[in-house]
Amino acid sequence: MRVQVSARKIVLPRSCPCCLGDANMLRRFDATRMTGVRVVRSTTRSWDFPYCESCDSHSFQWKSRNSRFGLIGFPILISFFALVGKVSAAVVIPFFMVFSVPCMVLGFRHRRRSLEGARAASKPTCATLGAAVESRSWNGSVQDFRFLSKSYAIQFMWQNRRKLVNVHPTVLAALGRSEGGGHVQGDG
Ligand SMILES: [Zn+2]
Ligand SMILES: [Zn+2]
Repeated sequence: MRVQVSARKIVLPRSCPCCLGDANMLRRFDATRMTGVRVVRSTTRSWDFPYCESCDSHSFQWKSRNSRFGLIGFPILISFFALVGKVSAAVVIPFFMVFSVPCMVLGFRHRRRSLEGARAASKPTCATLGAAVESRSWNGSVQDFRFLSKSYAIQFMWQNRRKLVNVHPTVLAALGRSEGGGHVQGDG
């Protein structure tokens, strides 16, 4: 659920954005924005969301599930330069087979372990196996977030209800503030 707020200071709920349980740590979410045409400058803003340790753990394992497949880059690179350096394909192909197969096996094994670990660390109340918050971008004081848990999004919106922008009237009504006004700019 996408939520936009216009505020210098955002109120963050004390519950975990993934499982809605008690948060016992802070987790940093960054948004990076590129500005400029000839000289490109990147600016990063970070938000420290209260998070719970088990959700932090499962989202980390989920994120790193494909990381070991990168190992196959080494035999690919070596084989490429060997072929460019006129090493015979009769040597390069067996070399590639011998080293790429274990890399793939390691990659798949790591992926399976990560997925099992992520599932084991998650709870039935978890909104996702990955990260429950996405800090997308900002424009001036308007911050753009995406929350995987709808219940968390409602909590967040309630705590920042006077700072919401581009919020749908039905959502406002659900928040118990059907009269509108303030920063509300309709259904953007
Ligand atoms: Zn949690
Ligand atoms: Zn979770």
